[in-house]
Amino acid sequence: MSIEELRKKINLVDANLIDLLAQRRELSKNVIQDKNENNNPIRDEKREEELLNRLVDLGKEKGVDQHFLTKVFYEIIEDSIRLQQSHVLNPSKENSKNERLTIAIQGIEGAYSYLASQKYFAYSNKELEFVSKKLFSEVVESVEKGEADYAVLPIENTTSGGINEVYDLLLHTTLSIVGEETFQVKHCLVASEDVSIHKIKKIYAHYQAAAQCSVFLTKIPEARIEYFADTAMSVQKISEEKNPEYAAIASEEAAKLFNVNIIRKGIANQDENHTRFIIVSRNRIKVDNRLPAKTSLVMATSHSPGSLVKALSVFDAYKINLTKLESRPILGNPWEEMFYVDFEGNTEDENVQNLLDDLGPYLRFFKVLGSYPSQVIKKTKLNPNTPTEEKEESNSILKEIQKPIIKKSAKSKSYKLASREYKEEDTIIKVRDVEIGGSDFVVIGGPCSVESESQIFSCAHEVKVNGAQILRGGCFKPRTSPYSFQGLEWEGLNYLEAAGKEYDLPVITEALAPEQVQRIAKQSDIIQIGARNMQNFSLLKEAGKVHVPILLKRGMMSSIDELLNAAEYILAQGNRQVILMERGIRTFETATRNTLDLSAIPVLKELTHLPIMVDPSHAIGERDKIPPMALASKIVGAHGIMVEFHPEPEKALSDGPQALRYPQFAKLMQDLKKLQV
Ligand code: PEP
Ligand code: MN
Repeated sequence: MSIEELRKKINLVDANLIDLLAQRRELSKNVIQDKNENNNPIRDEKREEELLNRLVDLGKEKGVDQHFLTKVFYEIIEDSIRLQQSHVLNPSKENSKNERLTIAIQGIEGAYSYLASQKYFAYSNKELEFVSKKLFSEVVESVEKGEADYAVLPIENTTSGGINEVYDLLLHTTLSIVGEETFQVKHCLVASEDVSIHKIKKIYAHYQAAAQCSVFLTKIPEARIEYFADTAMSVQKISEEKNPEYAAIASEEAAKLFNVNIIRKGIANQDENHTRFIIVSRNRIKVDNRLPAKTSLVMATSHSPGSLVKALSVFDAYKINLTKLESRPILGNPWEEMFYVDFEGNTEDENVQNLLDDLGPYLRFFKVLGSYPSQVIKKTKLNPNTPTEEKEESNSILKEIQKPIIKKSAKSKSYKLASREYKEEDTIIKVRDVEIGGSDFVVIGGPCSVESESQIFSCAHEVKVNGAQILRGGCFKPRTSPYSFQGLEWEGLNYLEAAGKEYDLPVITEALAPEQVQRIAKQSDIIQIGARNMQNFSLLKEAGKVHVPILLKRGMMSSIDELLNAAEYILAQGNRQVILMERGIRTFETATRNTLDLSAIPVLKELTHLPIMVDPSHAIGERDKIPPMALASKIVGAHGIMVEFHPEPEKALSDGPQALRYPQFAKLMQDLKKLQV
């Protein structure tokens, strides 16, 4: 047979192969229809095993090498699983090619994020439109604002590790993770001409790419590295500059896209260099229970010894596999960490819901970032007779902490996380060095409003010298009359923050509106939600998303049950640091501003694990009657008080009549110290 004839035959075989693959894919789609109707799992590992074994035997008969055959069929099976998964995820939208998806990425076409997006969305059958951004933060923003449907962000690399910037963005974004994709990164050195690598004087590289090729780069010391924010853009630049002495580190695909030469392939330190990307969108997805799923969450453990070990052992107790644990410092709180956890499981699954419930008591903040289909598709084992590994028995100490904290379900109550049934031991909230909810009686003192820099500095000095622990000062004031002083707002917060720094005191101020919460959290150690806002649900929800403690005041016409439900709003969003405050309620009695309900303290202590403090100032409204009620608060078991004082009460811009004079505050602090309960 001539070479031409042979080639013709090969072409024919290839065409047949493609035809057969297409037929196989069609059949796969029919299988999923059947699985859907009968609610069967997507993967049938037993069948896959049998199939592979049968094929290997068949291959032997035909003289096809086992290794080659299994490699080909692993790809075919993976394709089939992905096809079926995508059908389960978007059953109605399948084959609607006319629909477009807008994807935000960092970088331009040809960037690794672009290539990973194409791989991930290939199964959606939709046209892709890319929104290209310079910064990861802009990528996230673009989806938050609705400019793009999805963002595809690199989260970790098998050589250089986690991508910190992306982790930090996940903490604050409202977006959810809806998918993941892994992409094998094959770095090449590319140049505008086919030159020897030793001719290269300058290399444009993304800092991550340079880190992953550090060994190769030491071999060409004469080349200077110029860091570039984007891999594909560095290729674009050399293709435009056309300087034969300039090169870039990029993928083969990017080289092809910009029509430049690959002068060296495979330059990464590790051959197996994979990047994992996450796909995020505005809406959380519910993953079909039949798909292997992963869940990502971010958590901060409580300030008690061993809380991380205890939190992690809950995963062990539920036999749930952790696939990732990464820690990131909490910006603004030196030496404190947020933990990012990925595990195999689905929040739709009751076992996972129970796990999250049991995890809660060890945490002071947590946020589920999303459950999504796992893209790391486990390969079918070839030999069905290999015994499965025995799970190691845990040692006895671990077993002790592993006992799930079985909670009597608080079904009769409309709140759960705030209840003693959910968490038996008292929650202790640590603010800098101050512990609220423990054995110390904590005093928060300061003026009703921050009125000037000198006024709040003077008050901070008073707090410090008298041994109180926290400085208060209202910057946004909830005033009955719109004509009354409304507070110095952000300027006031700057003064308060500065005074706290100067005197080494944690500070607290009130947030009036949801949009203020994130920003106040950056400057204030505790955020107060005032009595008038106790049932402002959008404010409560926003307060649940930050990781600073929230002091929640009881509404002046609210019951204890309503107060606990309001706290539940914050807790349910993930912020587990709520301090309750009794500040007087309205009764028929008019002799005092409000009626201080001190009986609420022992009642609350029975119902909840959260710290409870008392504000006698707003309850009584008249300075001389405040100290006895402050002392009484300590006697009935409150964890502390908040009192207002002012350097010149007569000149106060708000709540002057209830502001203690400095000597009164000093005496109260003395009396509190003497009072042993
Ligand atoms: C305050 O503490 O300044 C305040 C306005 O309190 P309340 O919300 O209890 O009235
Ligand atoms: Mn006040």
